[in-house]
Amino acid sequence: MDLENRITENLKFLREKISDAERRSGRPSGCVKLQAVSKFHPLDAVLAAVNSGQFLFGENRVQEAVQKFEKLVHTEKKIELHIIGALQRNKVKNSIAIASCIESVDRIELIAEIEKQCSKVEKKIDVLFEVHTGEESKSGFRTTDELEKVLLYCAEGNAPHVCPKGFMTMAPFTKDESLIRKSFCDLRNAAEKMQRHYPDFPLKELSMGMSNDFQIAIEEGSTLVRLGTAIFGEREY
Ligand SMILES: *Cc1c(COP(=O)(O)O)cnc(C)c1O
Repeated sequence: MDLENRITENLKFLREKISDAERRSGRPSGCVKLQAVSKFHPLDAVLAAVNSGQFLFGENRVQEAVQKFEKLVHTEKKIELHIIGALQRNKVKNSIAIASCIESVDRIELIAEIEKQCSKVEKKIDVLFEVHTGEESKSGFRTTDELEKVLLYCAEGNAPHVCPKGFMTMAPFTKDESLIRKSFCDLRNAAEKMQRHYPDFPLKELSMGMSNDFQIAIEEGSTLVRLGTAIFGEREY
């Protein structure tokens, strides 16, 4: 099967799995969005996905994202890109030029830099706060106290171009389903608490679930699953 057919088949299969998981957990049909994570895959793969009706993408490295998406997001209005990887300050400017959302905000200084760059070009951007819930890497806010601080920073009007929309996490890489489930459950609980404390922000987005664990994530309240391998196949690093 050629690349485009394979990607089309995978997307169709995954959309069904997402619907099944929504139904199974008593959630409204269509409440979970699918993001295609195209990192390490070529532009051709992205275009194949677009041809089968996939318009939301995620990339974790800014340089690579710019190469693939700079033209695309400006010519094809429907295409949207989220940045999902650890972000250095000096990559913020290029990120906001191509992305509609930065999901990997993991420190207050990053908000300050996003605000600075967005105000220069008078653009508003959505952000999610990345929360550390058990995955190996060090990124992400670790406690609800830390989340309180960053939300307070935004609520005090320090970053008017930055629109907090919710939270993102990565579950630990393990076969132990209970640990994965706990990770997603922790994110949902933290999100609910923050929403109570900051009712003026629409903190509805819960970006959780990857190829191996998206069905569990949906059962635990995910609104956005980030799927790479299940759509495009294994990555060659
Ligand atoms: C790579 C990546 C994904 C997709 O992972 P798969 O296991 O290939 O689905 C999702 N989220 C983040 C943050 C990633 O870096």
